[in-house]
Amino acid sequence: MWKSINTTGAWEGEIWNRRKNGEVFLEHLTITSVKDPNGVISNYVATLTDITLRKEALDKIERLAFYDSLTGLPNRRLLQDRLTQALVLSHHNGRQGALLFIDLDNFKMLNDTLGHDMGDLLLQQIAQRLESCVRKGDTVARLGGDEFVVMLENLSSYTLDTMAQTKIIGHKILTVLNQPYRLGSHDYHSTPSIGVTLFTGHEQSNEELLKQADIAMYQAKSSGRNALRFFDPKMQSSINARAVLEGDLRLAMKEQQFTIYYQPQVNQSGKIIGAEVLIRWLHPERGLISPVEFIPFAEETRLILPIGEWVLKAACSQLKSWENHEHTRFLQLAVNVSARQFHQIDFVERVCDILKLDGINPKMLKLELTESLLIDDIEDTIFKMNTLRKLGVHFSIDDFGTGYSSLSSLKKLPLDQLKIDQSFVRDISIDLDDAIIVETVIAMANKLNIQVIAEGVETEAQRIFLEKKGCQFYQGYLFGKPIPIEQFELLLKKNLPRDISKSFYTYCPAHQADDHAH
Ligand code: C2E
Ligand code: CA
Ligand code: CA
Repeated sequence: MWKSINTTGAWEGEIWNRRKNGEVFLEHLTITSVKDPNGVISNYVATLTDITLRKEALDKIERLAFYDSLTGLPNRRLLQDRLTQALVLSHHNGRQGALLFIDLDNFKMLNDTLGHDMGDLLLQQIAQRLESCVRKGDTVARLGGDEFVVMLENLSSYTLDTMAQTKIIGHKILTVLNQPYRLGSHDYHSTPSIGVTLFTGHEQSNEELLKQADIAMYQAKSSGRNALRFFDPKMQSSINARAVLEGDLRLAMKEQQFTIYYQPQVNQSGKIIGAEVLIRWLHPERGLISPVEFIPFAEETRLILPIGEWVLKAACSQLKSWENHEHTRFLQLAVNVSARQFHQIDFVERVCDILKLDGINPKMLKLELTESLLIDDIEDTIFKMNTLRKLGVHFSIDDFGTGYSSLSSLKKLPLDQLKIDQSFVRDISIDLDDAIIVETVIAMANKLNIQVIAEGVETEAQRIFLEKKGCQFYQGYLFGKPIPIEQFELLLKKNLPRDISKSFYTYCPAHQADDHAH
């Protein structure tokens, strides 16, 4: 202080001062020297400001910026800072560290049932328990929501030892978080899913590490929750593969790599009365890809929405081109509708728009819905189905027997058809249970005045059994596999009685040459 005053004539800084009552406080002090006309210092002027409040405000700002206000734990920003430091340190001392990504199972349900106050209480207790599981130098942070990260530092220089050490702490966290909680007047049980990744040096960025721990956490979730999983590079590659598939699917949409196959549906006398529309993907490198491989994925990524719409449009324009010929105008097309697609708010409007586009008779369109889709939101389902049914659109329940729909909910729906799942048909003659199920479904549907179609019919024995029990319609390899439109129309021609089939040539002249070749 004196040095500064002597050389520059002033000093300022913060000092601890003591009040008369003995309380210590922080003070901002400025000292300036005052000189007389001869240049000799005559006085010192000191200005004092009590800055306790300002200091408190600054501390609070820091706390808000770096700590989570609900739990008092470091937030994402501070975790990032500490992780950066930890990586530098690990690079210098060769010791490894670990990141544990912790996500509570079913936390949303707690919030929804007991309210956000109870949710907050749980998060605070979780924070305390997590802190009790780690050493002083380790970091417990809350990223937001029900996501926490524990960072362990200074573990072993050997990966196997580091894994073992981390496993011990990870399992401790699992055990401790599994203990019952008291939330207000409620006893509550909560479980976490934990994903772990190890770090050493600064080969990887903060973001990469957090992502890895997050991926491992999802693995823990999909293994059935309440579990601990270590990140494995294989997880990354399967995620990369999904990313590739997603890109490919988008491209397929843009470049129209999809095509439609038609599988005949026949009545008891073997006459083709329509077809099920089944999508195929003609991949430029991988060739023909089955929908089993990409539809579930398209559902997850919502790509099913444009894809499903494309299928519907394609089916309707096919119906349009059949409409003007007496031998094809009776054909009905069954289109599969996925849950995501059906539950879109404007599903009904979309179907109406497509029907209007071609101006086809809605009765020729049959939508296949699965049981699980129906019961998901039964009121919404009933409303949508009724609206479309009034226009004339038909409905069939796909894979019937594999879901859990109750008879009482079925009765509320405007159904035209039940489609007995192929798993029951397959074993009809060897498994008594399956035979009984099939028989019961047919009897029930007949009572409720709903059509029955059996799918996956491959043998004459199966057909005979089904016919005996009163099944009216059939689909399966016995009558025809899914085929492209040209082949389907050929099959139609063969399916007609001889004399009529001649006039069919005028409808599909393109196939004439092909037919002569046979
Ligand atoms: P699904 O709706 O149950 O379709 C019946 C599946 O069984 C078809 O497989 C069909 O080729 C096959 N199949 C038919 N008859 C027989 C038979 O006699 N024996 C055997 N073993 N199999 C038979 P595909 O075409 O591979 O379709 C699989 C699933 O993909 C469909 O099951 C459906 O859930 C879905 N899918 C197909 N196209 C579409 C679509 O346009 N939209 C939606 N959302 N899903 C579709
Ligand atoms: Ca189907
Ligand atoms: Ca089916």
